[in-house]
Amino acid sequence: MSYDYKDKVAVITGASSGIGEAAALDLARRGVRVLAAARRKDRLEALAQKIRALGGVCEPMVCDVTREEDNQRMAARALELWGRLDILLLNAGRGNMASIEETDAAMVRSIFEINVFALYHGVRAALPAMRKQGQGRIITIASVAGKMGAPYMNAYVAAKHAAVGFSNVLRLELIGTGIECTVICPAGVMTEWASVTEGGPILNLFAESIPRAKEIAKEMGIKGKGGGGMLTAEEISAAILSAIENPVPEIYTHPGTHEAFIEAATDRAAAERIATPLALAMRETYPRLRKS
Ligand code: NDP
Repeated sequence: MSYDYKDKVAVITGASSGIGEAAALDLARRGVRVLAAARRKDRLEALAQKIRALGGVCEPMVCDVTREEDNQRMAARALELWGRLDILLLNAGRGNMASIEETDAAMVRSIFEINVFALYHGVRAALPAMRKQGQGRIITIASVAGKMGAPYMNAYVAAKHAAVGFSNVLRLELIGTGIECTVICPAGVMTEWASVTEGGPILNLFAESIPRAKEIAKEMGIKGKGGGGMLTAEEISAAILSAIENPVPEIYTHPGTHEAFIEAATDRAAAERIATPLALAMRETYPRLRKS
């Protein structure tokens, strides 16, 4: 399926850094008018300037996607400026680092507000315009954490599982309307994400645990399969463009992650065995790193 980007309108949440910023640049380069939403005004303004310098169109908008009224404002502003809304990229998200015992209700709520509730707010705001147009693209950035477990980030894993379910149902409810939905499930991406997780930076937990996990795996005779390596935000943006042009239900961006999901779905015990060295290494490392 080909897609004519020229003069289309995109609302992008979480456009102030990482994947959202890369997607904003890629879409603007193709002639899409971009409403770039997030909380950090300076970063959004720098992005808008960059896009305008490239000859593109970008409107920065400070908003908190956990607030329903901010999502309504985003859609209303895009319609006011450009009279249409073609692409909704539900990208804003945040992780957490905490054992289940130390994940309190406030953290669960906060992680679900940004990774799940914001999806409902965003879609409810954008759908009336897309339905009128009889076409649209809604792309949700979930994660492989929406398909498989990962220790010490349980609220995020549960929230991203919900995000995957959300997109699957949305897609079914919109069959035949011209509005297509895709959920993208990346593994590690080189962005700020791992440094800004609630409860402390999960980047440190992974960085300190991986070498120890290798030792444990050797002792236990377990052969790991790797997590698909690290990709760049630009590589995930390429997957977003592919979802716009060819709206498949879901995309795994990292090599081997689809296969790992199928394996986990058919033999959870085998998948857990492979995950055991990292889980044990993290159990050693986590008490030193957690926020007191
Ligand atoms: P970044 O931390 O670089 O980007 C997250 C974006 O979300 C920022 O622009 C941030 O902007 C925005 N954001 C956070 N909270 C809010 C809020 N309440 N309201 C509005 N915007 C908000 O990380 P990524 O680019 O990596 O993350 C993008 C998506 O990809 C997320 O959903 C993440 O969970 C997912 N993902 C990331 C992976 C990775 O390894 N990086 C792997 C798999 C999935 P601001 O702070 O200015 O509001």
